[in-house]
Amino acid sequence: MTPPAPLTPSAPLVLFNSMTRATAPFLPIDPDMVRIYSCGPTVYNYAHLGNLRAYVFTDTLRRTLNWKGYAVNHVVNITDVGHLTSDADAGDDKMEAAATAAGRDIHEVAAFYTAAFKADLAALAILPPTLWSVATDHVQDMIAFARTIERHGAAYRLDGGLYFDTARAPDYGLLAGARPDETVARIDPVAGKRNPADFALWRTSPPDANRQMEWLSPWGPGAPGWHLECSVMSLKYLGRQFDIHTGGIDHREIHHVNEIAQNQAFTCTSATGANVWMHNNFLVDRGGKMSKSKGGFATLASLVDRGIAPLAYRLLCLSSHYRSELEFSVDSLGAALTRLKRLVSAVSALRDRATDTAWLRVLAESRDTRGAATSYQRSVIEEPLSNAARVWLDRFDAAIAADLMTPQALPVLDEAISTKALSADERLRLVASMDLVLGLGLVTLDRRALSIRPVTAMLDDAQVAALIADRAAARAARDFAESDRLRDRLAAGGVDVMDGDPLGWEWRPLLGD
Ligand code: AMP
Ligand code: ZN
Repeated sequence: MTPPAPLTPSAPLVLFNSMTRATAPFLPIDPDMVRIYSCGPTVYNYAHLGNLRAYVFTDTLRRTLNWKGYAVNHVVNITDVGHLTSDADAGDDKMEAAATAAGRDIHEVAAFYTAAFKADLAALAILPPTLWSVATDHVQDMIAFARTIERHGAAYRLDGGLYFDTARAPDYGLLAGARPDETVARIDPVAGKRNPADFALWRTSPPDANRQMEWLSPWGPGAPGWHLECSVMSLKYLGRQFDIHTGGIDHREIHHVNEIAQNQAFTCTSATGANVWMHNNFLVDRGGKMSKSKGGFATLASLVDRGIAPLAYRLLCLSSHYRSELEFSVDSLGAALTRLKRLVSAVSALRDRATDTAWLRVLAESRDTRGAATSYQRSVIEEPLSNAARVWLDRFDAAIAADLMTPQALPVLDEAISTKALSADERLRLVASMDLVLGLGLVTLDRRALSIRPVTAMLDDAQVAALIADRAAARAARDFAESDRLRDRLAAGGVDVMDGDPLGWEWRPLLGD
């Protein structure tokens, strides 16, 4: 009999660094704990599927690191102040504009969309970060940080606030590549700016402004510039130089360029803040890059309306490499759903045939937010595997270690499931191990979770208003059977009644794409 092999040898993890535009072996600063900062959502609206691609990517990165034996300290911010309607330092604050348009309190708007975002992440089986850091909780830290930059001579005052002097940043724009002029050309001119690329660290409120959110500062009452929060919160929670900073590829051009300039001015060093800068490419649809400002964007809820389980979208993301553009269409999603259904059926057949499934319970019981449990889970799963089975793990490892090449890892999973050379028990264990990276829940997912009834009948505004009014009357008369019937009718028409909604909204539309 073959002696048990040692745990699968690990392929060295290689990651693409946007700073050098090259892949290189990943070496963590602290061998026991990888520190990652991800730019989080701006919570003035629902996240669209493009935004969610960014978090499927970071989740895959994180799960891969965990699978390869690293614990991860992951910080994600919530942007609830400062992000203007144009990334290029122009326009209104997105949060202020959305709250004004809705006639709502800005904090309520932020709380509502933060909760919706976290629900989307949970539906996509994206692990919660070790820490959520909220921008408005850190405004005093931002003021202190900007004061230091000013004292270091890298900022100047204008009537509109405190501006970063990009001429004082020797390598300004390095991350964006060789075309800083193109970025600068998109930036709206502000009177008095020394250089078009200079950006606001602090925006002083104009005398006639009627802002919901403003703070006192050495530069007058106002609000912080958007880029400041990520410099401040990453430094506060992860240190001056941490391992990996992530975001969508749009951030490579302006937001992260400005974060780096701030970090360098604050520390008076050339350290950028992170050793590796990683960016996911866009989710595009027929109209180009999916974006909230274009309106009519697709949300995760809109997929569910169409009868598509959220995890099908996760699988769609994994089917393409994170650095490639991913084209979104209802057809491609439908294909991903079919693929997921096939996987789940095949794995449940393996589970039925396996003779030992007690270890599955051990897996379910060992979870933590830094992923330190993953190594233990892997040993529970993989310990009894034969050398022949480990060959599949090696192939899977080689694919994900090559800059998270998930499109090449998925066919390895397919083959491992269907090979006749291994027992059902071994194949189930292989799926369980690979799924620690893929996060599709393949060994536990209930097949019924993939059968969602699409919303077909839509109601117009007048019908909605009439049904909501009828339902309020039924509830007032304590006729709960009738009230429930009306709720079901509204739901069938694509309207989600929101009893007890903290913002007092009666319903929300279930959006189509
Ligand atoms: P925001 O909520 O606009 O601050 O964006 C949240 C994250 O989504 C950021 O990392 C963006 O770079 C990323 N992002 C925005 N649009 C897309 C898209 N169409 N495809 C992929 N990522 C995107
Ligand atoms: Zn950021």
